[in-house]
Amino acid sequence: MNMTTITQTDVIIIGAGPVGLFAVFELGLYDMKAALIDTLPMVGGQCAELYPEKPIYDIPACPIITGQELTDRLIEQIKPFNPQFFLNQSAETVTKTDDGWQVTTSDGNILSAKVIVIAAGGGIFTAKRPALEHLADYEDTSIFYAVKKTDIFKDKHLVIAGGGDSALDWTIFLQPLVKSLTLVHHRDEFRAAPDTVSKMYALRDAGKLNLEIGKLTALHGTAPYITGVEMLRKSGDKHIISADMMLAFYGLTMKAGPISNFGIQMENNLIPVDTEKFETNIKSIFAIGDINTYAGKQKLILSGFHEAALMAKGAFGYIYPEKRFRFQYTTSSSDLQNKLGV
Ligand code: FAD
Repeated sequence: MNMTTITQTDVIIIGAGPVGLFAVFELGLYDMKAALIDTLPMVGGQCAELYPEKPIYDIPACPIITGQELTDRLIEQIKPFNPQFFLNQSAETVTKTDDGWQVTTSDGNILSAKVIVIAAGGGIFTAKRPALEHLADYEDTSIFYAVKKTDIFKDKHLVIAGGGDSALDWTIFLQPLVKSLTLVHHRDEFRAAPDTVSKMYALRDAGKLNLEIGKLTALHGTAPYITGVEMLRKSGDKHIISADMMLAFYGLTMKAGPISNFGIQMENNLIPVDTEKFETNIKSIFAIGDINTYAGKQKLILSGFHEAALMAKGAFGYIYPEKRFRFQYTTSSSDLQNKLGV
């Protein structure tokens, strides 16, 4: 069970994608502590969720780096600043307090700070759902789009739908646990890693997995419990697979989610900002990375990094109103080097 906490920090960063992570660094150089919230169970945003193994070629001074490597290096870079992470939970509400803001997460955690930085990228990743009638009536009891606890599938007749890495990885992982397992994919080519595909075929050849090629057409059962999943085989035959649970892995889409209800001005699901500080229409709430919009905006990681540096200067004015912001180079400032522990 998640413990509810109340946390006081300098800056709350909503979104732990590459831009949210780098913001910790820029804030940290100027003595501003940060806590990050992300809906995903891990950091890295699109880089970690959508393309961990794809190479990126336009990160300055990194001729080639994968999405996951970039994430790992950002984590390494921000370590000296010891940020707090609230993962696997969304920033749900933002409330004004006497001296700043309070953000409540979907797990009930409360974070207070003088400044909020929205680095929510394309928004919250949501699972694409199969087009089946009455689907919602069975969701979270018999039908799932992610595995949060493996025990619930123990000794069940399980259908896994999909042909990518998630579908095949979970097929291999859950097979020893379940009573029966059927993998359904609309075509007989799989997008998963070749080694995983070979393991899946080995399970089928050993009689431990039923592999069906075709399209899901209907659900059988009395909501919220399914008893079977109907499909149309590639051959044209109708077939009902006996099942009491189904996991569907049809990929992810992104939706703005709760940030649309924060009361901040938005245009086409993006947050307009100035290009001096990347502040929104609400003072002390900033927006950086893919979520913001301004004349000439390019949705690139390097643009987000630049925005983070200027945002930090803007945030400094709210956290230390009595102090003057003193620009320094990391190469020559012993003060900054002390903070970095180098
Ligand atoms: P994101 O990476 O989208 O991260 C935002 C995070 O915010 C997410 O983790 C999300 O879960 C979280 N979030 C959203 N709403 C909430 C909420 N309410 N509460 C809590 N958390 C929330 N860019 C390049 O520069 N070079 C490339 O070569 C390149 N290749 C790409 C290839 C692909 C296939 C894709 C999809 C994108 C590519 N991009 C590339 C774009 C790049 O990934 C984005 O510009 C970058 O990820 C934006 O970073 P971000 O931190 O702003 O947002």
